[in-house]
Amino acid sequence: MRVIVLGAGVVGVTTAYYLSRLGCDVTVVDRARAVGSGATFGNAGQLSYSFTDSLAKPGFLAQLPRLLLGRDPQSQVRLSPGLVDWGMRFVAQCTSRKARQNTLAVLDIALRSADLLAEIREELDLEFSYRQAGKLVLLSDEAELAAAKVSSELKSERGCETTILGRREAIDIEPALDDMSEDFIAAVYSEDDDVADSNKFTSGLQDWLESKSAAEFRLDSRADNLLMRRGRACGIATDDDEIEADAVVVCLGAWSQGLLRTTGINPHIYPVRGYSISLPPGPSAPAVSMTALRHKLVYSRINGFMRIAGFADFVGFDTGADADRVRALLDSARQLAPQAADYDADDAMVWGGFRPMRPDGRPQVGPTRIDGLYLNTGHGMLGWTLACATAYDAARAVVRTH
Ligand SMILES: Cc1cc2nc3c(=O)[nH]c(=O)nc-3n(C[C@H](O)[C@H](O)[C@H](O)COP(=O)(O)OP(=O)(O)OC[C@H]3O[C@@H](n4cnc5c(N)ncnc54)[C@H](O)[C@@H]3O)c2cc1C
Repeated sequence: MRVIVLGAGVVGVTTAYYLSRLGCDVTVVDRARAVGSGATFGNAGQLSYSFTDSLAKPGFLAQLPRLLLGRDPQSQVRLSPGLVDWGMRFVAQCTSRKARQNTLAVLDIALRSADLLAEIREELDLEFSYRQAGKLVLLSDEAELAAAKVSSELKSERGCETTILGRREAIDIEPALDDMSEDFIAAVYSEDDDVADSNKFTSGLQDWLESKSAAEFRLDSRADNLLMRRGRACGIATDDDEIEADAVVVCLGAWSQGLLRTTGINPHIYPVRGYSISLPPGPSAPAVSMTALRHKLVYSRINGFMRIAGFADFVGFDTGADADRVRALLDSARQLAPQAADYDADDAMVWGGFRPMRPDGRPQVGPTRIDGLYLNTGHGMLGWTLACATAYDAARAVVRTH
């Protein structure tokens, strides 16, 4: 069976891996010259299996006016194509019941993903800076603490163990917290959350696929249109040729909707811009991954660097403010954890990426109403965490329903 996978991010290449394991003849197409050039490239690297809490929740509505008035330094909002429709769908998800359902649905995917990644690590000898780092989420006030307790209890029903720690106990686990300016009152700790480089993983899988399977990578090749025959997807037209196949899987992250525009299928993905800065570690750099909830900043020790990521900007695909936003991220990170990194280093790597965000925070995976056309997209803030399970499911759906 010939299958085209569109998009060579962590989601597309992992989908290609499982398809090839199921005996398919896979062609991966990406417009970039290298795999992992989209959101996969510079994300925070956190395999955040225990922190799948829905972004859409009742408390979000109270923050909305501040966000829309431009008073939230962590988020910029500018009217952009699709934002109003997406925003209304997002607000509809902000009920307690839906937040709970979405959190648990994503948690189930994350826990399966952890097992599948462990299998890949055992079976293929890939180097992708994997580390069992653990994760601490810092809580700044009683409201955050109360919400964390409810969430921790909810997730424990699914076998996900997180522990609420007092400030002192959190510092015992990660002494670098003592040198932070943040006056957090408590933290949630998960021992089972890991950190690893999704870009290295993706290129490691590419190497494996090229050397151990018949998979082909067509990079520097833009997918323009879906080819249809008798109501069935039968291939794609790229900017320089046509490729025929029995099935097409769309793994185009934030750009998925573009290719689907002529099909009437809309996964409702909005590109949410975020940034990361990778710096040499400072004298008090945390080894445990950290999220400062109030500041929406994450700190990960990865590849020998301190990677600090954050911000959620709703400005469409506009990258015009990147330099200002990276500067703002650097300033916030320095203020919060002045000893965590060498903030004045010349060799800082700065990066921006688009999270492919759906209103309910759940990826869309599986067949569509067009025969031969499948989706594996919309992984939002957790694409690296969820990639293995959704790739496994998408590959099985292709083989099963063909
Ligand atoms: C700042 C930031 C921090 C993050 N931190 C984390 C984290 O700690 N943990 C976590 O789990 N997730 C994190 N994420 C989210 C994660 O990075 C994404 O969910 C994930 O990378 C999405 O992968 P993808 O393969 O779907 O998309 P992408 O990696 O964006 O891949 C899409 C691919 O499609 C290609 N493409 C687009 N259009 C076309 C076309 N027409 N033809 C051919 N190719 C095309 C692009 O070139 C790209 O390679 C973070 C994201 C950001 C922005």
